[in-house]
Amino acid sequence: MRWTEAAALGIAAVSVWMQQNPQPPLPPAPAAPSIPEVVGPPRVQPPRFVVVVDAAHGGSDTGARTSGGILEKDITLSLSARLRSTLRAHGIEVVMTRQSDMDLLPVNRAETANRTQGAACLVIHATATGSGVHLFTSSLSPAANERFMPWQTAQSAYVTQSLKLESEIDSALAHAEIPVSLGRASVEPMDSITCPEVAVEIAPLVGGHVTEARPITDVSYQKSVVDAVTAALEQWRSDWRQ
Ligand SMILES: [Zn+2]
Repeated sequence: MRWTEAAALGIAAVSVWMQQNPQPPLPPAPAAPSIPEVVGPPRVQPPRFVVVVDAAHGGSDTGARTSGGILEKDITLSLSARLRSTLRAHGIEVVMTRQSDMDLLPVNRAETANRTQGAACLVIHATATGSGVHLFTSSLSPAANERFMPWQTAQSAYVTQSLKLESEIDSALAHAEIPVSLGRASVEPMDSITCPEVAVEIAPLVGGHVTEARPITDVSYQKSVVDAVTAALEQWRSDWRQ
């Protein structure tokens, strides 16, 4: 087909379409209001207090094999679910990065956390070594919050708050007589998360003169860790609202 024929067919098609689809009349312009509108100050919504819980590993990333052959990804998921229900029972809203055994890239975990604009983000891990609970914060140096933070180091603007949150959790665990070790780490997705954030790694409780040995799968041990973390977040919430 030559161009002129194609153009002629195109014009004919448009005119048929115009006949079948006449333009609707324009709606009348709204009348000017006789009384000037009074616009009050913008309503400021109080920021929501939401906690992001990231059950580390999942899907093909099984994490460590813990004592008893249980995979870390399964423990982190069940512990996260337990934490979510306890937090919700205390009126704290929770967003989880995953709720099932699924592959999830670090970037997707960080996206969920950052979209939520959480007041706190907890990354849950489990290990067969050590005793009690290991807390980690990002190893990035604190930096001022810029309008645009590089993705790889976005957490640097929140490191100071993350250390404060870690200290709240540390106190609550110590109060529950659970041994705690503190560390700094640079593990994905932690450095890309834009809220106060702590990795909570549960290890078995090694028996001593005060404590009784308990595996990480022990329900009452898990409950005492979850209760202590919840108490810390309740404290965090009351500090946060001031
Ligand atoms: Zn892990």
